[in-house]
Amino acid sequence: MSDRGPRAELVVDLAAVRHNVGLLSRGAAASGAATMAVVKSDGYGHGAADVARAALQAGASWLGVCTLDEALALRADGIEAPVLSWLHLPHEDFAPAVAAGVDLSVSSHGHLDAVLAGARAVDRPARLHLKIDTGLSRNGCPEDDWPDLVDAAAKAAAAGRCEVVAVWSHLAVADVARHPVTEAQAARFDAAWRVARDRGLTPIRHLANSAATMTRPDLHYDLVRPGIAVYGLDPLGRPVAESPLRPAMTVRGRVVLVKQVRAGEGVSYGHEFTTPRDTVLALVPIGYGDGVPRRMNFGGRMRVWLAGRSRPVVGRVCMDQVVVDCGPDGGAEVREGDVAVLFGPGDDGAPTAQEWADELGTIHYEVVTGVQGRRMTRTV
Ligand code: PLP
Repeated sequence: MSDRGPRAELVVDLAAVRHNVGLLSRGAAASGAATMAVVKSDGYGHGAADVARAALQAGASWLGVCTLDEALALRADGIEAPVLSWLHLPHEDFAPAVAAGVDLSVSSHGHLDAVLAGARAVDRPARLHLKIDTGLSRNGCPEDDWPDLVDAAAKAAAAGRCEVVAVWSHLAVADVARHPVTEAQAARFDAAWRVARDRGLTPIRHLANSAATMTRPDLHYDLVRPGIAVYGLDPLGRPVAESPLRPAMTVRGRVVLVKQVRAGEGVSYGHEFTTPRDTVLALVPIGYGDGVPRRMNFGGRMRVWLAGRSRPVVGRVCMDQVVVDCGPDGGAEVREGDVAVLFGPGDDGAPTAQEWADELGTIHYEVVTGVQGRRMTRTV
């Protein structure tokens, strides 16, 4: 393919998002649960508002984000579905979020007081999701403080200052089948919910991330919160061919220069690669300034899909460009303007985000959130 498109492009396949959310939400519905699509961190790098709309069309009825800003940005984009926001500074001003009907996670008395102050300021009850730490030791109320927090929330609810919408928690090792920590977390979660119920509250419950949504229907409760699976990346790390999910993100660049070089020429900074023969090099204008890690080619194994073939990136990844070795016959095959796919869904031979993660010693979550979509043209 050769055209006059953009330099570097992040392409988001919303049909894939709809496929994934359809699959996840049908699975959740089979156990009576609704689906919250997690669109934090700009929709895991895919574009929060676009993904949110696609997810809502495909069967999700809730959205989950990390920060108040992310929640309010969805509202500013005209999205009216229930949104839960869950990581807040204790001194944040919650009034705009309460006014915008954003559901708020509360893990401590400090957070509860701040949220209730926001509710008072706009004269509207806050919608609370009380978070219990069941074993991740991250956000969430410690078990010992839980009864007190529930008492305080129940009192505020009785006074009409809030509604306790949910009790919730987050799993630590749901990607490992039947891990004892998951069973312990579920048991603590059930106990925490009973405390709330014993105080006369009737909150819904949510616990499952993507991995639990796909493997543990018994932990679906009333609502599931898949994130990574929405984007088609398998939470269990299965290769694309073995996963029912379809990856939504493609990162690609357009060849700006094709040139013949002689054998023995050093390529890119540090001359870590020297051409072993006369060859044709293609320059693709995408680099670490776009979020392509330099270390992606430390082992010299980085490849792109270009002009119908997988071809090696040679030499160091630069801030704005990489060099592709097209081989001695490359001049006949590769044209300026051709599209080089860095990673994509993997159905055409191009590398995948999972393969990048394996190469980088990380997880696909970091790969897709790490590419700087804001610096590229985003196409949906
Ligand atoms: N729920 C919470 C609280 C999260 O922080 C996340 C993401 O880390 C998710 C759900 C979604 O997790 P995953 O992307 O593994 O499905």
